[in-house]
Amino acid sequence: MTTDSAIQDVVFSEEAIHERVRELGREISSAYSAEDRLVVIGVLKGSFLFMADLVRVIEIPHGIDFLMASSYGDSMVSRGEVALLHDPKTDLEGRAVLLVEDIVDTGTTLSVLLPHLEERGASRVDVVALLHKRLTSGLVEPRWVGFDAPNSFLVGYGLDHAETFRHLPYIASL
Ligand code: 5GP
Ligand code: MG
Repeated sequence: MTTDSAIQDVVFSEEAIHERVRELGREISSAYSAEDRLVVIGVLKGSFLFMADLVRVIEIPHGIDFLMASSYGDSMVSRGEVALLHDPKTDLEGRAVLLVEDIVDTGTTLSVLLPHLEERGASRVDVVALLHKRLTSGLVEPRWVGFDAPNSFLVGYGLDHAETFRHLPYIASL
């Protein structure tokens, strides 16, 4: 059995993702000015492809950095605890931060990361999430969302299951 044969359905095609990322780039570009000293921070590893495509369509000058939060590991369900494994080295004092997330599920990850970035001195922190399952308490909502996601386990375009499928150019459900 090849890894790809475990995939059931393509949920968002490569073309649909490409088109939506371009729209997000336009919206984000109009929301910031050079004085905001924008820094775009990707949440590793799941956001790496989205981040790479998104920054190429953001027309405001910006810095780039990454942080890493603990993941689900090999599990498909949230354990409800989040640890910061890598804190960005960039000085965030007085800068607008755009946090780039692959997918928001319960919102637990964001509820830990946002206060942390504010404590690091960011003048404002906004979130762009490619996917949103809308299972959150509603306390922490991304400012921009690529797609509303079905409540199934998604892989591809950066998203993994046990470190497989990240390379797929589309998003599929297992
Ligand atoms: P939350 O903290 O909002 O419950 O979960 C957010 C994180 O859980 C995401 O950044 C992602 O790493 C992981 N996650 C949530 N749903 C999925 C999914 O359907 N597929 C994959 N691969 N990861 C998911
Ligand atoms: Mg993640």
